Amino acid sequence: MTGALVGIFLSEVGFLVTSVYMHRALAHRAVRLSGPVTAICRILVWMLTGICPREWVAVHRKHHAFSDRDGDPHSPVLLGYWRVQWGNPVLYRRVATDDAVVARYARDLQPDRFDRLFFDRGWLGLVLTFGIIFAFAGWQVMVVAAAVHSFVYLAGSGAINAIGHHWGRRPYDNLATNNRWLALLVAGEGLHNNHHAAPTSASFSFQRDQIDPGWLLISLLAHTHLATVRHREIRPRTSPGVPGPPDAETTGVPPGEPSEPAVVQTLGPLAASGSSPSNRSSEHRLP
Ligand SMILES: [Zn+2]
Ligand SMILES: [Zn+2]
Repeated sequence: MTGALVGIFLSEVGFLVTSVYMHRALAHRAVRLSGPVTAICRILVWMLTGICPREWVAVHRKHHAFSDRDGDPHSPVLLGYWRVQWGNPVLYRRVATDDAVVARYARDLQPDRFDRLFFDRGWLGLVLTFGIIFAFAGWQVMVVAAAVHSFVYLAGSGAINAIGHHWGRRPYDNLATNNRWLALLVAGEGLHNNHHAAPTSASFSFQRDQIDPGWLLISLLAHTHLATVRHREIRPRTSPGVPGPPDAETTGVPPGEPSEPAVVQTLGPLAASGSSPSNRSSEHRLP
């Protein structure tokens, strides 16, 4: 029981640091974190996820550049729900290990000496975390905590990409979906339709009854002058039609430079079908 609780706690902290630091601060620059908070986040990402942030940012920006079209690294619209839900780590690694993609989409995130020494060795951070648990709580707690944490973090991350582009409400004109219950579990990331409508908003909650735990943490940090929110006004994209070339705010690729030829030359299977994205299963819910 202790191991399971430790595993769930590690996952929830992992979701928070993934969402607030890697997603909102690094990938979209929606919030600027202070130096000490950034240092803590880098250590937590390393110890709880083993993810290299610039690789994660590159994969995620490519997802925004090609959302649910050819080139999207993990679209359930293209690959099917189950493949993205449970194959997400494989899909992620396939793009994250592509040096050309990382160089293109994360050009603003160059590795420093701490990356080269520690943070680029994700396995080292995870070994450190579970070594500490082993030392203080014994091998049984460590094994259960590692199993639960691995399952919850990977299942939750898969759910953001799979459920978050398949089931749920679509108040704005994109194929991502809002699921409030998922948002509670994964630091607000379940409000994914909102996020795709306004990628540079630090808050994913656009209504009072949408709870975004990541935004609550950012608000706390902002109140204590440990974070600066880029803009508080939320202006979601509502106009119908096919999205244009990506901009630097969502992809890291400078304006005027197409991220991939496919972005501007093909419309993808959904746009080609002739129906507006907003007409598609806008009220699909989880059964
Ligand atoms: Zn998405
Ligand atoms: Zn995003």
